[in-house]
Amino acid sequence: MERAGERVTAKRTAEQVMSELWEGNRRFQRDEAVGPRRDGARRASVADGQTPCAAVVACSDSRVPPELLFDQGLGDLFVVRVAGNVIGGDALGSLEYAAEHLEVPVIVVLGHSRCGAIGAALRGESGSPHLNGILVALRPAIEATAALRGDRAANAAREHARRLAAELPARSLALRRRAETGRLAIVGAYYDVATGAVERLEP
Ligand SMILES: [Zn+2]
Repeated sequence: MERAGERVTAKRTAEQVMSELWEGNRRFQRDEAVGPRRDGARRASVADGQTPCAAVVACSDSRVPPELLFDQGLGDLFVVRVAGNVIGGDALGSLEYAAEHLEVPVIVVLGHSRCGAIGAALRGESGSPHLNGILVALRPAIEATAALRGDRAANAAREHARRLAAELPARSLALRRRAETGRLAIVGAYYDVATGAVERLEP
């Protein structure tokens, strides 16, 4: 019997990986996180190479660290973090590396509640040129959800993650090839910073 947070090393499918990530998130929510694979033995075992089980695109927000909220350890997640979890050229290149060279079976695009970047974009704020680039990248999701009822920031954050996940294959030949041949799943998800729950978004 495996202990919580342990795992077999055989290659796993996208669904197996996601079920492990969401099991880790349930532990995190219940304050039962085990903080797996963070000791010296694990550090030594991954020193010569990494075989992460998933790539995660997340916001830089300090409340959204993927390893903590999925209760994972060293060498488990290949993480790209940018404010507003926008995906520009460098982020896309990083995901292509994860897919082609590390052969991750899944990419999770993770939006979150109470995102400062989404809030600023909703208020029509502008800042320095580089910050503006992030706000502009959030506009399509904000416009697409403008007529929806409820929490505007939450609606936009969900739409942004869902939209990015859907667009990735069209933006990258490398990702498209792997997705079309069943070697890569790309999913959107939404993290609630108050409850700790990660919700998987329907495509
Ligand atoms: Zn954010």
